Amino acid sequence: MKDLEPIIFDGIDPEKPIVIAGPCSAETEEQVITTATELANNGIKIFRAGIWKPRTKPGGFEGIGTEGLAWLQEVKTKTGMYTSTEVATRQHVKEALEAGIDILWIGARTSANPFAMQEIADTLKEEGKDITVLVKNPVNPDLELWIGAMQRIYNAGIRKIGAIHRGFSTYGKHLYRNLPQWHIPIELRLRFPNLPIFVDPSHIGGKRELIGPICQQAMDMGFNGLIIESHCNPDEAWSDASQQVTPEILNFILNTLVIRDSKQTTENLTLLRQQIDQIDNELLEVLSKRMRISREIGQYKKEHRMPAVQAGRYNDIMRTRVKLGEEMGMSVDFMKTILLAIHDESVRQQIEVLNDRAR
Ligand code: PEP
Ligand code: MN
Repeated sequence: MKDLEPIIFDGIDPEKPIVIAGPCSAETEEQVITTATELANNGIKIFRAGIWKPRTKPGGFEGIGTEGLAWLQEVKTKTGMYTSTEVATRQHVKEALEAGIDILWIGARTSANPFAMQEIADTLKEEGKDITVLVKNPVNPDLELWIGAMQRIYNAGIRKIGAIHRGFSTYGKHLYRNLPQWHIPIELRLRFPNLPIFVDPSHIGGKRELIGPICQQAMDMGFNGLIIESHCNPDEAWSDASQQVTPEILNFILNTLVIRDSKQTTENLTLLRQQIDQIDNELLEVLSKRMRISREIGQYKKEHRMPAVQAGRYNDIMRTRVKLGEEMGMSVDFMKTILLAIHDESVRQQIEVLNDRAR
């Protein structure tokens, strides 16, 4: 994906994060027009609304379908906003292009399916329109699958491609509806520096209170845009009610965002911190393994009626490890402190094993 083109729209400041907002689903003409008007009055320039909804189970609201495309056209003429919707099949792409939708996005369940992605890519190629396509990450945390989905669109001749980070599915109850796993979009950015990455705080968070903090996090990490669900009457929404905010609340959230310059620095810092986290985990695992072995030694000493501490062994450990640590660039004091602490805990654990005898 070498020659990607930037996503630029007339009247939208390319220096600022691009914000796309609108309801999870287009429900009625009135809901669409009211929401769009309120968003436009609050300065939002790109409207989103799902026309075809991929629902986990049958029987839910599966989108208003083709009829809703006319409402999006109305949004365009009445408010001057650009429009975007989700496509998942050949038919969706054809109808959305015909209706003059400006941005197509591909949902997380679709980007996980190479057959569906290829069908969409083939249709885009046949249609030959210069359209912007945003690809959400697949539901599972598979960066290669996400990249593969975008490459199919790229191979179809589309050059205005963006990625949407919407978090990753997981089993069980968590703070987030979909885990952010920020290192995955960060790695995507390192691999494709020209690829704009949008963050979808609504599907990551799953609840209103998290929209603001996730938006701020996205900005702190230097991502390029936001796609946020906003509904004129969120509590009554036909899908994703708990994560939608009114256009007014959205405006408040966006106005309080702090947008910093030093994207690169924050990004590098995040990556470095992730490495530290990883190493600390490894350190803890190694330490606990060491303690387990100490306890086994304790068991042996208990069976052979030996004392927990043997001075000779302790002096040996200190001398050889301090020297080794020093050769690796660590100070003698640091090495002594850390070895002593490990030794103390080791002895404490052995004494615990020895004392079992007393009980
Ligand atoms: C949506 O944007 O409303 C949607 C269905 O999202 P996702 O594909 O991320 O679940
Ligand atoms: Mn939704």
